[in-house]
Amino acid sequence: KRIMSSDLQLEDNEIESNIRPLTLSDYIGQTAIKENIKIFIEAAKQRGEALDHVLLYGPPGLGKTTMAGVIASEMGVKFKVTSGPAIEKPGDIAAILNNLQHGDILFIDEIHRMSRHVEEVLYSAMEDYCIDIVVGKGPAAKSIRLTLPKFTLIGATTRAGMLSSPLRDRFGIIQRLEYYTMQELGCILKRTAAILQTPITEEAALELAKCSRGTPRVANRLLKRVRDIALIKYDNHIDEEVCTKALELLSIDRNGLDDIDRRIIQAIALQFKGGPVGLDTLAAAIGEERDTLEDVYEPYLIQQGYMQRTPRGRMLAPKAYETFELKTL
Ligand code: ADP
Repeated sequence: KRIMSSDLQLEDNEIESNIRPLTLSDYIGQTAIKENIKIFIEAAKQRGEALDHVLLYGPPGLGKTTMAGVIASEMGVKFKVTSGPAIEKPGDIAAILNNLQHGDILFIDEIHRMSRHVEEVLYSAMEDYCIDIVVGKGPAAKSIRLTLPKFTLIGATTRAGMLSSPLRDRFGIIQRLEYYTMQELGCILKRTAAILQTPITEEAALELAKCSRGTPRVANRLLKRVRDIALIKYDNHIDEEVCTKALELLSIDRNGLDDIDRRIIQAIALQFKGGPVGLDTLAAAIGEERDTLEDVYEPYLIQQGYMQRTPRGRMLAPKAYETFELKTL
């Protein structure tokens, strides 16, 4: 299991369910989004209406699911969760929609991975709060219009670009989540440590924040590992020394890069002479899936200036040569 991956892993569930913020004031960072959402929630509440449909997008682990849950609890409504790949047939989404009550929030994670047929059911559901379902087969088949309660759809995606425009256009509120600053991640780490009842110093929180790739999920997962090491070897408290030792044990360098990141950079440098190299070729060279490389590994390397995306493929940027003392080929 890769600690530094921002993708959800099985063991995250247990920890994430305890530490997920439930209110806007507990939700650290994303200040601009919070300000907007707060106004939209207040307005919807004053009018006694359901909140407009919301699309949240940005890299994995930045708090989209958390934000959707926060919106539901701030609105005081029920929160139903599903995901694009889980909804296989139009009938599945029809059943989910039919079970909603006035004001409920339906959260669809990875909404870009819904099939076209399922998506089409959502169009009328989102716009007119009704769906047409076909009952019976052959010549006896007829279409029945089902009216739905006014609900709110919150969609989350790592790839806003992959959403079809008819779907995107039906969201009244579209917000992009940004990577977190070190200070914000430090606050998140201190909050999580307090919930987990593990003392952590200010310096240690910042040290871990530096390696957390701007992502709360990575920060919390890193904290969990460091906490294990602290418990077994260091009296169950986390200070700078414990962090340094733990990061060494976990092979995470001071830039927050791990073995896979280094492998990607080295592959481009050595096998492909610095690039450009196509995404599929690079994925094959490091033995990873193309989608994982594109969604999980490369955004941070690009954002940190180690790598560039060009029309001809991926290339190393000067920072990679400097950091790893690679020769320009
Ligand atoms: P996403 O849906 O974008 O993949 P999640 O909402 O599942 O990300 O968040 C991943 C983890 O990070 C959760 O454990 C959550 O508690 C934590 N987290 C995310 N955003 C925040 C935040 N703003 N403040 C505190 N914790 C956060």
